Amino acid sequence: MLDDPFAVLAGPLAGTSRLPLEVVGAEPLTPHMRRLQLTAPQLASFSYAPGQDLMLLVGVDGNRPVRRRYTIRALDRASSAVTLDIVLHGDGPGERWVRAARQGDKTAQHNLGVYYATLEAAERASAAGEAPAQAAGEAEVNP
Ligand SMILES: Cc1cc2nc3c(=O)[nH]c(=O)nc-3n(C[C@H](O)[C@H](O)[C@H](O)COP(=O)(O)OP(=O)(O)OC[C@H]3O[C@@H](n4cnc5c(N)ncnc54)[C@H](O)[C@@H]3O)c2cc1C
Repeated sequence: MLDDPFAVLAGPLAGTSRLPLEVVGAEPLTPHMRRLQLTAPQLASFSYAPGQDLMLLVGVDGNRPVRRRYTIRALDRASSAVTLDIVLHGDGPGERWVRAARQGDKTAQHNLGVYYATLEAAERASAAGEAPAQAAGEAEVNP
């Protein structure tokens, strides 16, 4: 069982919620950047502030989740999908997850067991004095 400090969505994650995500697109954008598209039914009515990010659980270290954050590049409500563009800098848990992601992936298909993603509140927008477009959500990729 994961020792997950975000098991309860409180503190900076208060106002977020979990969503089921599935990889619907994974392709090279440039030799050093990969584009992922992830879908969840709830994204059909989602909105986001510029700079808002999605926090992915990309692996585990022992029983501790390893998370990485990726900025939402685009949201297509018609297909309930977000686009993430991720730099391939060499190696790291995030990069390994991104390289491994394939269309149709849900967490159970990865050896990592549980991983999930968080659509986090728009911290940067808030810091700039703007109201977040919508409370963000934590997305659980498990079926
Ligand atoms: C709010 C927020 C939004 C973010 N949005 C994005 C995004 O949209 N796209 C994106 O690609 N990343 C984004 N990041 C960075 C991302 O969360 C990870 O830190 C990054 O992908 C590296 O994770 P990793 O596990 O692969 O490497 P790690 O193991 O965390 O890093 C290993 C080492 O690789 C080097 N490194 C890491 N990233 C880079 C890089 N980009 N260029 C050169 N060297 C690097 C550093 O030396 C680092 O110490 C964002 C981070 C934050 C906090």
